Amino acid sequence: MCFYPQVLQPLNRKCILILLVLAMTVLSWPVRNGIHAAVLDETIRIAIVKSASEVTVAGEGLLVTSETGEPLSMTFPATVRLTKGGLLVEGKKFRRLLFSASSAVYVNNKPYRGLAELSVADNGIQVVNQLPLEEYLVGLINCEISSSWPIEAVKAQAIIARTYALNRKMARMSAPYHMESSVIDQVYDGCLIEDSRARRAVQETEGKVLTFGGGIIQAFYHSSCGGRTEASANVWGTSLLYLKGVECQYCLTSPASTAWECKLSLKEIEERLRAAGHKVSGLNEIKPGSLNSRGRLKQVVLLASNGDIAISGEQFRKAIGYGVIKSTRFVMKNLRNEISFSGSGNGHGVGLCQWGSKQRALDGFDCGEILSYYYPGTELKMFSDIR
Ligand SMILES: [Zn+2]
Repeated sequence: MCFYPQVLQPLNRKCILILLVLAMTVLSWPVRNGIHAAVLDETIRIAIVKSASEVTVAGEGLLVTSETGEPLSMTFPATVRLTKGGLLVEGKKFRRLLFSASSAVYVNNKPYRGLAELSVADNGIQVVNQLPLEEYLVGLINCEISSSWPIEAVKAQAIIARTYALNRKMARMSAPYHMESSVIDQVYDGCLIEDSRARRAVQETEGKVLTFGGGIIQAFYHSSCGGRTEASANVWGTSLLYLKGVECQYCLTSPASTAWECKLSLKEIEERLRAAGHKVSGLNEIKPGSLNSRGRLKQVVLLASNGDIAISGEQFRKAIGYGVIKSTRFVMKNLRNEISFSGSGNGHGVGLCQWGSKQRALDGFDCGEILSYYYPGTELKMFSDIR
């Protein structure tokens, strides 16, 4: 309101003083934190709870506002319950509640920076955590890798996580949130496992993103490729020039993170396939189908009493469980009433191989060299220069 002349007149000196103090605060804050103001301005919205019947919120010095912006007083921890068409807390009904704190808001006992926005969606309570992008990245590093890895690998992770997040944000600008907090997008568990090395990697790469042809790339990544990274066309049907797949022997130096084995009974496999919607009855045997251009299983053939069915390797992984069949690079043995699987790699295999990146950093490559290897033809740029 200070910008209206009639109001400005009597308050002139006071306003100038307030503006000066505000300007000094804004200018000094980024310097204290080692992050530029333009980067701090970028926020991200992550869905941290979906379709819950109740949510507990706690924290020191929490500020709460309703959907109209009205400040509310509340006793913490507060349990917010789903009620018909709204949220119920301390006997009052709301459509939306915003919680914020200078340190962290605890949602279901996990701390989050920024603010937590509770609303009703998909017949349950949805919680969206909105926070500065760079703070989100600091919290994310130890969910995806370990910040004790060589710093160039941690910096590579910070850059691809930032690139991935900004790509998603631009694609879902008008959606209620930009990303999930699971492997569907990037694993994120709040600020509980932040540490100084994760913060250092984020600060030393602040604002940097990977680009191709001037645009921000879809920076897919995975845990371990098992020898060769996958082409995006083989997983999602979309061919991208920087995601055609590269050779990667580097992750093979960490066999424990790459090789996997499991045994499942035919009955259990059939149950999981049926639960995923595949019409299989009386499963007798499973055979590998053809391999794709990157040496992964294109198809899995199910021999059953109701006929033979071929499904894609990715569909098979999804039905049985991504944590059980860790990649589509596997062989299998039919034993009596059960199948033994042994494979290499963990994840879809597209883009950067995290364990390979770790080895490349140990071999002396910097984060720029690591990224240009896994995403050929890409360039590192400041996000502020491309939008
Ligand atoms: Zn690899």
